[in-house]
Amino acid sequence: LHDLELIQVGKTYEDGTVAVADFDLSVEKGEFVAFLGPSGCGKTTTLRMIAGFETITHGDILIKGRNVSELPPERRPTSMIFQNYALFPHMNVRQNVEYGLAVRGIGKAERRQRAGRILEKLGLSALADKRADRLSGGQRQRIALARGLVVEPDILLLDEPLGALDANLRRVIQNELKLLQKELGITFVFVTHAQSEALGLSDRVVVMSNGKVEQISAPRELYTRP
Ligand code: ADP
Ligand code: ADP
Repeated sequence: LHDLELIQVGKTYEDGTVAVADFDLSVEKGEFVAFLGPSGCGKTTTLRMIAGFETITHGDILIKGRNVSELPPERRPTSMIFQNYALFPHMNVRQNVEYGLAVRGIGKAERRQRAGRILEKLGLSALADKRADRLSGGQRQRIALARGLVVEPDILLLDEPLGALDANLRRVIQNELKLLQKELGITFVFVTHAQSEALGLSDRVVVMSNGKVEQISAPRELYTRP
């Protein structure tokens, strides 16, 4: 059973924009897949459909064989990480991390315990009581990662997560992401317009242009003809 399957997936927005068409992809558990392509090629739309944030106008998306459009939000086995972190600025780190657990109806004691555990795993315990708007960009993205992982998703969806960071920090967090993904063994789907990120991070690169999949290759085979 595939962790993630996109079968002839398409998205046409209400204004008639065809953002994605005929997208086919199968992802195995533990794979790190990157969607690579220029701005406007449909990467974010595809990621949002996988997350269940966007309706699918053609085809089907299955996670572990279950149709995403039939799963209620609190039962979706995905978490999403954004370029702008999307933390609640006035909540502290612990409250931010616990938030997704509260949404899923998990009680206070268990929330505390699970948030504490993931913060410790990521080496972030010292920040637990800091307000999110007092953190640096790098700290914010690490906390956003903790918040995504605390619900123990099958698939982590990352939308240009390094885009707002300076070059040095981008390299550091890129390495952290790669190590973390291998350690956790869960599937990562990573959206980027930066070739170096796609090549450096992923097991397979899905090259997109104009809403279509142009090519799916391992990084080392990206520039050799099949
Ligand atoms: P990418 O993530 O690769 O930059 P997007 O998925 O954001 O691409 O966008 C794909 C296409 O869909 C673009 O032409 C974009 O302008 C269009 N688009 C995105 N969101 C909407 C929307 N809500 N309504 C209409 N068109 C949209
Ligand atoms: P980065 O390059 O890591 O994103 P920033 O320029 O965002 O760093 O922040 C640099 C330092 O300033 C960090 O140590 C961060 O904790 C601190 N800092 C950022 N914003 C605030 C704030 N609003 N109040 C107090 N300290 C802050």
